Amino acid sequence: MKRYIVGMTGGIGSGKSTVAKMFADLGACVVDTDAISHQLTGPQGGAMPEIEAKFGEEFLNDDGSLNRQVMRDYVFNHPPARKKLESILHGRIREAVSEAIEKASEPYIVLVVPLLIEVGTYRPIISRVLVVDCEESAQIERASERAGMSRDAVRAIMAAQTDRKTRLRVADDVIDNSGSLALLEPVVKQLDQRYRSLALNQGQEGS
Ligand code: ADP
Repeated sequence: MKRYIVGMTGGIGSGKSTVAKMFADLGACVVDTDAISHQLTGPQGGAMPEIEAKFGEEFLNDDGSLNRQVMRDYVFNHPPARKKLESILHGRIREAVSEAIEKASEPYIVLVVPLLIEVGTYRPIISRVLVVDCEESAQIERASERAGMSRDAVRAIMAAQTDRKTRLRVADDVIDNSGSLALLEPVVKQLDQRYRSLALNQGQEGS
């Protein structure tokens, strides 16, 4: 069976996780590369032995998980280290994504990839690009509140991500999440209907 996969992206704090949860509640299969990455670097995470071997135990918390703050600071000051970390994580994330997609029995899949546009890895398997968008000021406010990061830290991450214009240019669908959560729900519901129908039509065409 060919799965219908919607690639979902958006800047930090735009509302990807919030929207993903709404899709999941409506019956979609949500595969979140960020969540997978967190799992791989959590206590007993599959990537931790290699991270410890290649970076050192000072990058680990007492419970064996990755010390994100230490790694963030290190990578920020040592750009080649980012590649090293990515080479440990990317293959494993891809593998976990493939497994999750194989197992899915839901009508369609929402694949959440924060760097969907920056990194081409998932482009070949997705049928559509869905961008969650909101005002940059709201992004900064929401992301700094949620993650306990400073506004400047959020701004620095935003500066390293694809700019809003480029992201919107490649979008097939856009969810405007500048408003309230109550406004968001009907928009996600409508898209859910749309994706169900697109997934079904794809099946009928035998493609
Ligand atoms: P992302 O996954 O894109 O980084 P999140 O979905 O985690 O973003 O949203 C960031 C924060 O903003 C979360 O605390 C979330 O609850 C909150 N949030 C998301 N959408 C809205 C909204 N429309 N109104 C108010 N708060 C929101």
